Amino acid sequence: MESYLLTEMTWPEIEDALKSVKLAIVPVGAHEQHGPHMNESCDAVLATEMAKRLAARLHPWVLVTPTVNMGVSPHHMNFPGTISLRPETLLAVLRDMVVSLKHHGIDKVLFLNSHGGNQGTLGQACASFSQELDVDCYYAKTTASAKQAMKAHISSTLFGHSCEREVSEAYYLAPHLVRPERLEKGDIVHGGRWEGMRPGQAMQGFYRYEEMTRNGCIGDATRASYAIGEAIVEEALEELSAALRPLLEEAPAPMHAAHGERELAS
Ligand SMILES: [Zn+2]
Repeated sequence: MESYLLTEMTWPEIEDALKSVKLAIVPVGAHEQHGPHMNESCDAVLATEMAKRLAARLHPWVLVTPTVNMGVSPHHMNFPGTISLRPETLLAVLRDMVVSLKHHGIDKVLFLNSHGGNQGTLGQACASFSQELDVDCYYAKTTASAKQAMKAHISSTLFGHSCEREVSEAYYLAPHLVRPERLEKGDIVHGGRWEGMRPGQAMQGFYRYEEMTRNGCIGDATRASYAIGEAIVEEALEELSAALRPLLEEAPAPMHAAHGERELAS
C-alpha cells in the first residue's frame, strides 16, 4: 500500500513527492470515551487509517498530514479521560496547518473527519479558510458515504457512537481498539430531553452524552463484525476517491461533503 505520509518521510522525499501532490488529507479525530469496549483514541486512529487507504487509492496526487487527534467533545466530558478542544482551538490548529501546507505549495485540503462533534467546526473552517487563505478546503465524514453498506448492515435506529458501525470499522481497520469480551449495547436513557433535540425535530441544542446513554454507547456493538467493517470502509473509500478525483484533475466539479442522515453527532 503505497502512499505519501508526512509523518514517515524525510524532507528530500517530500520535496520529490510535491512534484505530483495536489491535495493534502488532514485526518481529524477526537479523544473521547467510547463506552467500555473501545479505546478513547478510536476516532483519531480510524481517521488516520482511512486517510492512509484513501491516499493509497489516489497516489501520487495526495499526501497525508499528521492527525489532529483531539476534537470538539464537550458532550463526552463527564466520562473519565475525555479531552476536548474548544471549536476555536481546533480552528486555530487547522488554520496553521493549512497555512503551512500552502507554504509548501499545496492549495487543496480535505479534512477527513471521523467525529460528528467536529462537523460544525469543519464547516466553519472550510468557509473561512477558502475565503481568507486563497485555498480550496473540503471536509468529509470518513464513512458517511457508505450508504448501501449502512442500509444493508445497520439496523439500530440510533447509532453512530461505539455502535455496530464504529466497532465494525475498528475490527477492519484497527482491531487493537476493541475489547471483544466487553462489547455492550447502548444503555439508552429514555424520556430525556435529548429525544426532542434529534435531527428533524423542531429545535436542536446541546446535551450531554450521559443524558442519552448510561454506558457511553448507542446502537448495538454486539452485532459488529470484520465483514461489516470491510463493506462500510471499502464503499466509503470508493465514494470518497470518486469525489476527489475531479479535484486532482483540475476539473471544476462540485464536491459534496458527506453527511450521515441517520447518524447522531458522535
Ligand atoms: Zn468514535
